[in-house]
Amino acid sequence: MAAHAKLSASGSKRWMSCPPSAQLEKEFPDEQSSYAAEGSFGHSLAELYLRKCFGMVSNKAFDAQIKLLKNNSFYTQELTDSIQIYVDLVIEKVNAAKAISKDAVILLEQRLDFSPWVPDGFGTGDTIIIADGLVEVIDLKLGKGVPVSAEGNTQMRLYGLGAINQFDCLYDVQAITMTIVQPRLDSVSSEELKAEELLTWGENEVKPKARLAFDGKGDFCAGDHCKFCKARFSCRARAEKNLELAAYDFQEPFLLNADEIAEILGKIDELTAWAGDLKAYALDQAENHGVNWPGWKLVEGRSNRKYTDEKKVADILVGAGYKDEVIYEKSLYGITKMTDKIGKKSFNALLAEYIIKPPGKPVLVPASDKRSAICSIASAQADFS
Ligand code: SF4
Repeated sequence: MAAHAKLSASGSKRWMSCPPSAQLEKEFPDEQSSYAAEGSFGHSLAELYLRKCFGMVSNKAFDAQIKLLKNNSFYTQELTDSIQIYVDLVIEKVNAAKAISKDAVILLEQRLDFSPWVPDGFGTGDTIIIADGLVEVIDLKLGKGVPVSAEGNTQMRLYGLGAINQFDCLYDVQAITMTIVQPRLDSVSSEELKAEELLTWGENEVKPKARLAFDGKGDFCAGDHCKFCKARFSCRARAEKNLELAAYDFQEPFLLNADEIAEILGKIDELTAWAGDLKAYALDQAENHGVNWPGWKLVEGRSNRKYTDEKKVADILVGAGYKDEVIYEKSLYGITKMTDKIGKKSFNALLAEYIIKPPGKPVLVPASDKRSAICSIASAQADFS
């Protein structure tokens, strides 16, 4: 019989939506990304700063550890500034908790055991604050992609269950706040639940799905949770769901009507994400693992011409009488690179008033999107006339 699947808190949205994915993923190797490596480095740095703030590490030990961390290739001013935002927020929350209860407890990088709901389930809470029956679990996320909401977030809720499981007998936990801090996106999001509500969710929602996932049972279900599934490239359920569009029942007349176009629009993002994943997987397998896809072959792609020796080229042109300004171009670093170079703090202090955010190009999104609708050019012209 196959070994049971490992159910992580970070993958919980996926295995709760598609329970057999947990078992299927075991057939694929772990995916290591440099973002994840930078993330764990950032967490070590944040933990060290917080330990220093709360007197959990001596000055001598701090100096020795920070010296080591500063030599790491992931150490940048921008990362340090981002972590400082998180550290300041944690200190603020700890002070507020101490104002309520002087015995408030703070725990860093705490193992949280949620195995009463998820077989073998545990995770790590970056910061836990406990005061007067209230527990707050804070998670630092260093991604630069999109803000993640704590509302209904299954990973945070599992950490919350773990906190109740471990601390209820000591602190009689009444309510729990789960907070996600994303300093690089200026985003802080929280969800607060009564302990009872969270326990009910654990019993009714998590437990049955975790059991199915652990045993590799249940139905496959494709959706946006496929994005981080290790089986996403070759999963049949995902392919079938996306290929449903190809089987779209096109009716006469020959032109699509507004309802049909609207329906197709709703499927395109997932369809293109799936198509991109499939192409990248097929290329990687062919190029790096010698896989032959029937009817396909590897060829050299297009390439651009480039200089073999830039210095030599410049010498020749200068020798031929061309001036520097004709052959060189100078440009300022872009905003992201400049922030990396000089750090977020200096960037904001020196340049904030010289940064604008021009209106973005119009995009079509579902009506449920939180952004306000803008007028089309045609309707603005109609209003004007
Ligand atoms: S790719 Fe999607 S449908 Fe397929 S196993 Fe993973 S989560 Fe389930």
